[in-house]
Amino acid sequence: MSSPISKSAFIKAEQCLKHFYLYKNHPYLRDSLSKEKQLIFKRGTDVGIFAQQLFPNGIDVTVGEKRDQQLFAEKTKHLIAQGVSTIYEATFIFDDLLVMVDILHKHEDKWIAYEVKSSLKITETYVKDACFQYYVIKNCLPDLTDFNLLTLNPKYTLEGELDITKLFKTTSVMKDALKNVEYFAHKTRIAKLTLEQGKIPDIKIGTHCFQPYECDFLGTCWKNTNDPSSVLSLGKLTKQAMFDLYDSNIKRIDEIDINTIEHKEVKIQVKAAIEQKEQIYQQEIGLFIADIQQPICSLDIEVWMPAIPYYQGTKPFQQIPFLFSMINEEEGKIQKYSYFKPIEEDYRKEFLEHILLMTKNFNSILMFDKSLEETILNQLAELFPEYRNDIATLKSKIIDLAEPIRKGNYYHPDMKGNFTLKSIAPIVNQEAGFHNLDVQSGISAMYMYESLLEQNPIEGEHIKEQLMEYCEMDALITYQLLNFFKSKLDS
Ligand code: SF4
Repeated sequence: MSSPISKSAFIKAEQCLKHFYLYKNHPYLRDSLSKEKQLIFKRGTDVGIFAQQLFPNGIDVTVGEKRDQQLFAEKTKHLIAQGVSTIYEATFIFDDLLVMVDILHKHEDKWIAYEVKSSLKITETYVKDACFQYYVIKNCLPDLTDFNLLTLNPKYTLEGELDITKLFKTTSVMKDALKNVEYFAHKTRIAKLTLEQGKIPDIKIGTHCFQPYECDFLGTCWKNTNDPSSVLSLGKLTKQAMFDLYDSNIKRIDEIDINTIEHKEVKIQVKAAIEQKEQIYQQEIGLFIADIQQPICSLDIEVWMPAIPYYQGTKPFQQIPFLFSMINEEEGKIQKYSYFKPIEEDYRKEFLEHILLMTKNFNSILMFDKSLEETILNQLAELFPEYRNDIATLKSKIIDLAEPIRKGNYYHPDMKGNFTLKSIAPIVNQEAGFHNLDVQSGISAMYMYESLLEQNPIEGEHIKEQLMEYCEMDALITYQLLNFFKSKLDS
């Protein structure tokens, strides 16, 4: 066997043996890692390093070494023999299985392992991963007495100095780990057998391609289905419902019997595919628009959710608004306004006051999917009760332009099963759009904002401009979507 089976590889084997085989033998076929995923991994690593402070003065086996896991395992063994009591990234190999654990700590002659998760909740997958780590480590280190998951404590509120012992929540997985020893021995045999067979397992695509994680080889396995006319590009259907169609040999959207479809938002997609043109329910759109009163503006808010609370009185992953952009029209000219909160300061009150001031003269405030904005406004109302009435007034003026699209009253085949603002943007405005921007999503906006903590002022200014450009684009497309609907009614 070339290299041991790591925890990541083992998880892939659990998901799909083809995924595992490709990962081990054809890694060059992997899809490139999206910027969002890279940022999420980076956050995981940062929180892991932060948690080391719970057990200070440990030795990280990966520091100063080239990326050689065999070497890390030897170094771990050596440190244990030397009597070191805290080891970070402790590495173990047993029966050609390799695991690295974030923190290994000796307490009264017994070893305890800790795996850090940048999350508020423990998932089934986290427990399974931890049980696998326990299985390998216990076979190398019989004195291992406990294996814990360290997650962020949703009840923790930053008050004064950060208290790391309260920030993290410790949960032992020993009950599950002890139950599953035989399971891992069995699964390991299957994984090894798959590699020994020396050929890619013949496994069809299915719902498992997304569970528990999106597979890294969609580009390889799904390439023949990457066609907007495929039933697998239908939106508003569960993966299971899509595969029920696909497996019953209905591969193309226009092969579906439209009379068998119950939901309007699916029916409109099928109709668009059959007729190869956009679909609009004019009466419904007309009624929706009738509620909109001049003067109007559009509004978009971006939020930051720091894993480790940054401002007093906040909790892990609390949504902190940091930017809003507003679009309106004056004498036929588009006007833009943005408010950007510096990351160093908790200017949520100023943020709120600016929103209230800027929107107060408008009778309708357009948004696209108001759920985030409404949540933020509700939080601000709790935090600053003196503005509760003003916030209620603002909320009463919100018009959510995602609604007619979500309800299946408008659809264009170019939306390819997506009902997001990004998918409708090129239809609404062919010149403007998100494709030219450095920031492509709310998640990347959030991580870019967080990166301001590490940037120099010149880079920081550049990031601020990029974030404002993104938020303004969101508000602009939302604003133009209303005109787009109106033009459809006129025509
Ligand atoms: S895309 Fe699906 S079938 Fe292909 S390797 Fe991944 S999980 Fe397996």
